[in-house]
Amino acid sequence: MLIEVEGIVLSELAYGETSKIINVLTKEKGLVGIMCKGAKNIKSPLRASTQVLTYGIFSIYYKQDKLSILKSVDIKNIWKVIHSDLTKISYATYLCELVMQVVKQSEQNIFDNFLQSLIKIEQGLDPLIITNVFELKSLPLLGVGLNLDECIRCGNKTQIVTIDASYGGLICKNCYQGEPIVDKKVIQLIRMYYYVDIASISKINVEDKYKKIINKFISDYYDSFTGLYLHSKKFIENII
Ligand SMILES: [Zn+2]
Repeated sequence: MLIEVEGIVLSELAYGETSKIINVLTKEKGLVGIMCKGAKNIKSPLRASTQVLTYGIFSIYYKQDKLSILKSVDIKNIWKVIHSDLTKISYATYLCELVMQVVKQSEQNIFDNFLQSLIKIEQGLDPLIITNVFELKSLPLLGVGLNLDECIRCGNKTQIVTIDASYGGLICKNCYQGEPIVDKKVIQLIRMYYYVDIASISKINVEDKYKKIINKFISDYYDSFTGLYLHSKKFIENII
């Protein structure tokens, strides 16, 4: 059955001398594995359009639970700005790795959040902030959503003194046991990141010291609760 799907290439794998297999996150069918015959051939029009991050309309012979076959791609965006900047491409590469992990664990489609994140990075918004927003919004899909309304231990909604990643959330005055104190502003920003609609972000200004604390909180929370090891995040940590 020949169908059209809107998608973004997450990964590519060489297959034989001339072909490759790509994983595409699609709006309509979730993650789809696609065989691209001849796509490694320099003269093939499919060569460029099947590279990681390509966003387009893919015409495929769709087979559920098997590899689909690519017919053609109508490219919508190849993200010129992202590809021209090592920092931006590092974040985008990490997002692809994270998306692969999230879609393996969740039925809910994160296509729109992923696409909007790439659009915002392409537009020049801070890639660290956009990545952190995406990471936070992916937590419920990984089954480890954040509770940002009350103390994680006793349910107290007032007298919150800090947030702690290894503890898993907010800590109130009564339950406090010497965890590092973070600024109230950090908790407010984490809440904002968690609930914001990515498409609605037009500009963001967060002080560097807060950005670093928030990123560390998210990385520590991922380490403690998701069970994921994300190789490319470690690379990003080194360039922040
Ligand atoms: Zn408490």
